[in-house]
Amino acid sequence: MPANSTSRIHIIGGGIAGLTAAIALRKYGFPVVLFEQSEQFGDVGAGITIGPNASRVLLALGLQERLAPYVRTPRHAGILHFRTGDRISYSLRGDSYISEFGAPFWHIHRADLLGVLVDALADDPDAELRPGHKVTGITQSADEVTSRFANGVAESGDVLIASDGIKSTVRETLFPGTPATFTGYVAWRGLVDLERLPGLEIDPDFALYAGPGKIVGRYALRQRGLMNYVAIATREDWREEGWTVRSEVAEVESEFQDWCENVQTIIRATPPDRCFKWALHVREPLDNWVDGRVALLGDAAHPMTPFLGLGAGIGIEDAMVLARAFSGSGDWQTALARYQQARIGHAANAQQASARQGLHLLNAKPQPGEGKTLYNDDMLGLYSYDATTVAI
Ligand SMILES: Cc1cc2nc3c(=O)[nH]c(=O)nc-3n(C[C@H](O)[C@H](O)[C@H](O)COP(=O)(O)OP(=O)(O)OC[C@H]3O[C@@H](n4cnc5c(N)ncnc54)[C@H](O)[C@@H]3O)c2cc1C
Repeated sequence: MPANSTSRIHIIGGGIAGLTAAIALRKYGFPVVLFEQSEQFGDVGAGITIGPNASRVLLALGLQERLAPYVRTPRHAGILHFRTGDRISYSLRGDSYISEFGAPFWHIHRADLLGVLVDALADDPDAELRPGHKVTGITQSADEVTSRFANGVAESGDVLIASDGIKSTVRETLFPGTPATFTGYVAWRGLVDLERLPGLEIDPDFALYAGPGKIVGRYALRQRGLMNYVAIATREDWREEGWTVRSEVAEVESEFQDWCENVQTIIRATPPDRCFKWALHVREPLDNWVDGRVALLGDAAHPMTPFLGLGAGIGIEDAMVLARAFSGSGDWQTALARYQQARIGHAANAQQASARQGLHLLNAKPQPGEGKTLYNDDMLGLYSYDATTVAI
């Protein structure tokens, strides 16, 4: 489709998926307007893993130079015994991601990634970023789709891409019936200055401590001099409303009190203002992401548990396929249909693979030699996906 024939593509939600969609659409020449509810683009500071499936998209979008100062590839990765710290599995990684999957694996601070994405759009007159716009309602007519915002503004476009996350207002409005449900998993996320962890064993670079019903994953965000960790436990008694709330460090310490010294050292060193708690929610896969002129993208379409570290990556893939579908179609109806067709089954597979990985990692009693690995077949298949060339 000629870029100027669909001149008004609106995006709701400036997270990783929405911002990447804006960059990808701009790469193919489509002007975009992106509305974000927050006054500033950003995120609760924490680390994120970007697998080869997603890094290949970011590289194809020309972001290599901007990302280079912030990303780090782990040299090794492994699963460690929760109580002894002994290695259960261990593999050298580094450039092996490039030789196996054709693209690198990265650790990056979320705020750095979001900063790179926002900066890439900032100087582009055809990419309008509108923070402070919380969508509250959507209406469609034969000619346009109109978003209404909490600040009283209403804006109409030709097409609307909803990337407003797992709590998506757009999904609740147009695709009701698959409510977000609590998974039974609670995650604590913390960041600790590396200088507060002198002498800590950090080989492997990416470590997953696995115990019955609980895991702790940790890796350093070296450019920021920080150790990032995610600690997950099963909790049937969750009652709190909020999904991202400050947590007492003492609560995490108590939950992991019989774990090995390395885990306890990191938790104990967490500053009180850098410890957050999330009740992990998911939604059942949808069999339709498109309603008229509106399509879902990112967590709004396919929220998943974090056990494969792939949620944002699958949203980054969505972004590239969406832009390619627009570029290769004669009209927006065809573009949205081709986007959905190419993505919906793949995203549902990733959601299910992530749920299985949670069972695999948390329900076991790991012992050295049991052959438990970080990289199951699901994950390897997902890393091979190439959104820049996949048939659409
Ligand atoms: C503990 C944990 C660890 C994880 N680790 C990883 C990992 O290592 N690797 C990985 O790939 N994924 C990981 N994920 C998943 C990843 O965080 C998500 O998949 C990703 O952030 C989703 O991006 P998104 O842009 O779709 O949604 P979000 O990041 O939720 O962004 C949605 C945006 O929409 C805005 N918004 C919401 N409602 C409105 C509205 N009404 N109007 C306007 N704007 C709105 C929000 O403010 C936000 O900016 C993890 C998740 C968790 C919980």
